[in-house]
Amino acid sequence: MTLDKENVKRVFGEAYDIGLAAASSGAVADYIPELAKADPKAFGMYMLDKNGESLSFGDVGVRFSAQSVSKVIVLAAALKFKGFDETFSHVMMEPSGDSFNSILKLDTRSNLPFNPMINAGAIQTVSLLTDEVSFADLMDFARKLCRDDGITVDERVFRSEFMTGDRNRAIGYLLKSKGVLQSDPKRTVDLYFRMCSLSVTAKSLAALGLILANGGVDPISGERLVSEDHARTIKSIMFTCGMYDYSGKYGVRVGVPSKSGVGGGLTCAAKGPMGIGFYGPALDKFGNSKAAVKAMEHISRELKLHVFD
Ligand code: GLU
Repeated sequence: MTLDKENVKRVFGEAYDIGLAAASSGAVADYIPELAKADPKAFGMYMLDKNGESLSFGDVGVRFSAQSVSKVIVLAAALKFKGFDETFSHVMMEPSGDSFNSILKLDTRSNLPFNPMINAGAIQTVSLLTDEVSFADLMDFARKLCRDDGITVDERVFRSEFMTGDRNRAIGYLLKSKGVLQSDPKRTVDLYFRMCSLSVTAKSLAALGLILANGGVDPISGERLVSEDHARTIKSIMFTCGMYDYSGKYGVRVGVPSKSGVGGGLTCAAKGPMGIGFYGPALDKFGNSKAAVKAMEHISRELKLHVFD
């Protein structure tokens, strides 16, 4: 797919203005106290394409915690280290239609979590790695997938979530009580918190989107990080489950495999291939960055990036 450079530049410029205007109607997450300190007006947007060309707008260098965007990295790691069959014998791949931290269906409808993009599914997926992969290896993998050696654990966010994350602990122990969790619940949920606390930028999330859009190969270094099959699986699950309980509407309106997090991040694996990364901590009621979603609606519509265009 070839996109006219000037047109792409114009559309991204418009999208930035649209996003900036939308940010003021959202609210930063405050259930993890450290996240409440973010500037609700902050907005950054970065595009990286397969030739290494980029467009950069606003707060692209600001570090913030990946939160649920890390679920993409966790899934990629589980597929890499445990394989497809093993991974999906422990977690399903169905949209839940419930909020990210819901416990409801897990207790009433199924022993296995619905998908790896909700908390229960991510905690379950992490449990496949807790005893098998060192944190240093996971960090190394995250840095490569995001082309960002500056990624570290934001210790303040980690501590804040550690102090307040009892609902996630409840999920861990519920999974254990059902006999499905693959490792110790305490160590697993701590690792889940650590992954959520990885400090990324809009730029790192653009690289993550690009590598997935490019079938798992980093087009700039040439290194394969994710198998083609796994990249397709990850993008499919991002498409159906990546935007919380707004995933259906986003699929229709934007139609680009994407994953958001309550820290305000959004990664998008778009045609081109190109990756688009956002930082906009003011969220809508679903937990998605208000500015980023509005900007992506414009970008996808104008550049015909919907997977079914
Ligand atoms: N660490 C957050 C939590 O578990 C992640 C939520 C999110 O970004 O959706 O509550």
